[in-house]
This record gives sequence, structure tokens and C-alpha cells, in this order.
Amino acid sequence: MPGSTPGPTDWSPESWRHRPAQQQPEWPSAEDLARAEKRLAGLPPLVFAGEARRLRQQLAEVAAGRAFLLQAGDCSESFEDVVADVIRDKLKVILQMAVVLTYGTGVPVVKVGRMAGQFAKPRSAPLEVVDGEELPVFRGHMVNDDAPNVRARVPDPTRLLEAYHHATATLNLVRAFTKGGFADLSQVHAWNLQFVADSDAGQRYERIAGEIDAALRFMAACGIDLGAEEALHQVDFYTSHEALILPYEEALTRRDSLTGQYYDCSAHMLWVGERTRQPEGAHVEFLRGVQNPLGVKVGPGADPADVVEVCRRLDPGREPGRLTLIARLGASRVEELLPPLVEAVRRAGHPVVWACDPMHGNTLTSADGRKTRRVEDIMAEIRGFFAVHQRLGTWPGGIHVELTGDDVTECLGGAGAIAESDLHLRYTTTCDPRLNGRQAVDLAFQVADLLRA
Ligand code: PEP
Ligand code: MN
Repeated sequence: MPGSTPGPTDWSPESWRHRPAQQQPEWPSAEDLARAEKRLAGLPPLVFAGEARRLRQQLAEVAAGRAFLLQAGDCSESFEDVVADVIRDKLKVILQMAVVLTYGTGVPVVKVGRMAGQFAKPRSAPLEVVDGEELPVFRGHMVNDDAPNVRARVPDPTRLLEAYHHATATLNLVRAFTKGGFADLSQVHAWNLQFVADSDAGQRYERIAGEIDAALRFMAACGIDLGAEEALHQVDFYTSHEALILPYEEALTRRDSLTGQYYDCSAHMLWVGERTRQPEGAHVEFLRGVQNPLGVKVGPGADPADVVEVCRRLDPGREPGRLTLIARLGASRVEELLPPLVEAVRRAGHPVVWACDPMHGNTLTSADGRKTRRVEDIMAEIRGFFAVHQRLGTWPGGIHVELTGDDVTECLGGAGAIAESDLHLRYTTTCDPRLNGRQAVDLAFQVADLLRA
């Protein structure tokens, strides 16, 4: 059974409290924080240990080169976007991308949303200047509000509870959509959003959808009982977020009654960010004791020996499916920086999934001061990532992207050719720029081409 290595004996859900914790908000009241933690600890788990184990099994298939990971969603989920249409449209785009990747390559796709909990953000500075005024930085709706005024930016621990309830509502809808008919392959046409369908990628998608329809009709005509094939009617869709605000993660950590092991039941998969992955730090300490599949972001400053040390702490049993290393090195440096990391981890014997986050190493500021990314750079980093794995004989296990189903104008170029002068039109992200549905489906086609090659 995955996670069958016993959990560490020198660990407890609160042992992170003895380590330095980066990126924690300065909560104004310790009593209010304690009250929120206590309440959270009494609330039901959001996900079950068995589901996290199933994801670990599927990620073990990715580690073995037999499946591909698609991890996608907002940079920072907004409480205001916990709305049926927004959640549905994001899910549609992710399902579309998965169809494009699966149909185009014949490789099963493991689908993981940055959804139902991605409410907290690490920041590079504690203050930011908005319209000439210096404000405490926005840290995600789990911590404070993004409105540009000092009061909104005060960390509020009741937001931990609000985050839980928004995650619950999101997850409830995701479960209903993925298990209740919406993700049925017979609905494959219905996932094409109008503004996506009008694009080249959308039309290419329609052709695949038509072929899938024809294949289903053919199988039915051959007498295959499609109704009995669960995989045609339901999708396994998992949730993930950065495990950043440790009081929240600790409060949702529960002991599994079946195995006696601890799981962080706030999401199926948790990752540790580029800014909080210090081997001796609180975040790594917390995550090493929970048996969920884990991700580790790896940026351009990463020293291979440090990355191996993090692997040693988080994956002492060297178990496939436990660890996904998410490289975010930048288009211009991926081919130089990735090989020594892959080699060092391979030498150390950790059977990790290597995923490519082509977003965070390619962020730039537009002339009018907006954070943006060029789709061209995003694709270039993915191509570099694939090229490195091809040279080393390792498996390019997946992609990790920031996207939304909405027709936003946040990333430059791509399908729809968004220009700098278009960015202001529909720039609604509360943190980093996201691919819109059209750009995302187009990217899936290009990744499918790389996987086939
Ligand atoms: C993110 O994924 O939104 C993020 C902050 O990433 P990183 O930790 O890689 O900078
Ligand atoms: Mn981001």
C-alpha cells in the first residue's frame, strides 16, 4: 500500500512549531487565532485518507513513466470566485486539456486542481505600493483581503474558517460535477466554452470530441455495455494547494482510522513553495509527517544538494508517488539548471515525478506595471523541460499551470494574441497572471505534440 512506510516517530502535527516558519502572517490576536484553530480542528475533514492514497498510486504510475500529471488552477483562489459558473468553467478547461492530452498521446492523465484551498500566498516583500500608497501585501483570502486599503490588509484568523467553508463549497461542486454526469465522456462537446470554441484550438478540440463520440457509438454498436464502464462516466479529480499557513494545515491533519497514519485532510496533495522549502524549516517539518502525496517547488536558485536533502526528509522510504518535484526555472535557464537537479535526485534514489511549472520563472512586469507572462516563454520552458528529460532518459511527468476558465487578458500572446495594450481589459487575478481557457487548451495541444514526439 502506498504510504505503508510507518510515519516518523519523532514527529507530531505540531512539531513544526519548534522550527522557523517563513511567510506566516502577523496575526493581531493570538487568542482569536487559537479560537479559529480549535474550531477548525473540530470540523470534518475535506478529503479522505483513502483518496490521497489513490492519488499516490496514480502518481506512482506517473513516476514510472506510464501516466502524465496535469496540475492546474488559479494562482490564488478568490473567495469571490467561489461561484458555480467560475468553478464549472475552470473544471471544463482542465477536463478539455486532459482530453487533448489523453486522446493525443494514449497516456492516462492524472488531474489535480489548484482548487478548493489555494487561498494563501507567499510574497517576496511584506509591503507593496498601490496607487502611491504603501500597504501590507495581500497574502491570499485565507489571511487578508486584496482591497487596496490598510484595514483590508490586516490578517484576520476568522478567515481560516472562511477558507475552510469556501474550500468545502468548491469541493462539493467539483465532486458533483466529476462524479454526477457532467464529466461523462458523452458531454465532451459541452466542455468547450463559447470563447474557446471560436479559436483554432477550440475547433481542433471539437474534432477530437467528434472522434470520441464516433468511437463511443462504434463501441456501443459492437455490443459493449458502455453504461457499465465507470471510467467513461466519472473522472478522478484531486485537489491541491500550497501548504503555507501551518495552523490551518495542522488543524485539518487527522489520523487515518485504517492505517493509523496522519493525513493532512485539507487537500489530496500539498506542496511546499520555493520560499518555504528550507530543509530545517517549519514547512518541511510539517509535511514530512503527513502521508499525502507532496510537491516541492524548485526554482533557479536551488542547489542540487539542498533539493536532495529535502527529498531525503520528505521521502525517506523512496516511494514512488510520494514526491513530485515541480521545476520552475525559467525558459532561458531550464536546459542549464534542470539536468544537475534531475541527476542528483536520481543518484540519491528518489523515484520522484518531475513536473514543469512554466509560469513562475517567466513573470515580467508590463509597461503599465502589471505582472504578466508571455505564452511564448511558457511554451519555451515546457519544450526545454521535455528536451532535458529526453536527453537524460527520464520521464517528463507533468505540467503545473496557472489558469482560469474565464476569458481573462493576463498572459501575453498565445491563442487570441493578447497584446500589452489588452492587459487592462479583463485583468482580474488577485495574484499572478493566469492563462485563459483559449490559451490553456492551445497549450495542451502543444504539450500533446511534445509527448507524442
Ligand atoms: C505559486 O505556485 O503560486 C507560487 C507562489 O510558486 P513558487 O513557490 O514556485 O514561487
Ligand atoms: Mn502563482
